[in-house]
Amino acid sequence: MTLLPCPFCGGRARLRECLSGPEQGGRCIECSKCEASTVLLFASKIHVMPVLADKWNQRTPKPPPKKSKRQFEWEAYIDELDGVE
Ligand SMILES: [Zn+2]
Repeated sequence: MTLLPCPFCGGRARLRECLSGPEQGGRCIECSKCEASTVLLFASKIHVMPVLADKWNQRTPKPPPKKSKRQFEWEAYIDELDGVE
């Protein structure tokens, strides 16, 4: 499974997980440059990754936020979805 580049800036996409706050445990695919992202999904990792990749690759992510400062702590824990079916 391959993640397409960001439709806004062409940046590299990656999976992120929210580690704190009300969205803790939510996962999305986000641009590493402009922070455009898919919706947050709350499910087990093995189920959520293909769904998020589909959403991202359909080229309908949310536009990047006006402020790049994040309210909550996030962790990017994978850069590639290769090998995930
Ligand atoms: Zn971008």
